[in-house]
Amino acid sequence: MAPIVVPRLVFASHNAHKRDEVWAILAPLLSGWTPADLASARDLGVPSPVEDGVTFAENALVKARAVCAATGLPAIADDSGLTVDVMGGAPGIFSALWSGSHGADERNLRLLLAQLVDIPDEHRGAAFVCVAVLVTPSGREVVREGRMEGRIAREAAGVGGFGYDPIFIPAGLTVTAAELTAEQKNAISHRGRAFTALAADIALL
Ligand code: IMP
Repeated sequence: MAPIVVPRLVFASHNAHKRDEVWAILAPLLSGWTPADLASARDLGVPSPVEDGVTFAENALVKARAVCAATGLPAIADDSGLTVDVMGGAPGIFSALWSGSHGADERNLRLLLAQLVDIPDEHRGAAFVCVAVLVTPSGREVVREGRMEGRIAREAAGVGGFGYDPIFIPAGLTVTAAELTAEQKNAISHRGRAFTALAADIALL
């Protein structure tokens, strides 16, 4: 019988793309860790809780606390979204379901482009925000925020990444986040910055 491998940490997410992106960020920073050390809530069959917080931090903590309680293992989670200046910070915590339902990335970005159709380039400022958290069985909670500033493009371009990447041009660049390699995006992204900061706390587990 194969030995049972107990992970060291659980990522409270059912999004396989995000799990891979987060592992790619953490792996170089956690010496001695292997991919099996980071399980995901999906791997362990832990259901997603209702995200009833009203900030990125509250929602990330809701997810990590639920997974930590269900597994007895330290848990990490993130909550993230796109904040558009001229929209008063929207879609914000509603980014994933902006057009009405989860998992509708293409419809979400089409709706956002339509809402901004008359807004000139100088007022298309936006940022991706990510709050990454660590919750341990002893009750320790660490919260780290990362941001990637930029602007909303006039049309979608690129096939990499996910979500609003095809319409987000990071500050200082002329291409969208979907036209970057995973390494290029992780080096400047909100998620890269938040989880790089959290890695120092994870390394102490
Ligand atoms: P959540 O953090 O899983 O709740 O996801 C929030 C939503 O924000 C995603 O479904 C995307 O629509 C958007 N989002 C968050 N991070 C990114 C990113 O790195 N690229 C593109 N869209 C993102």
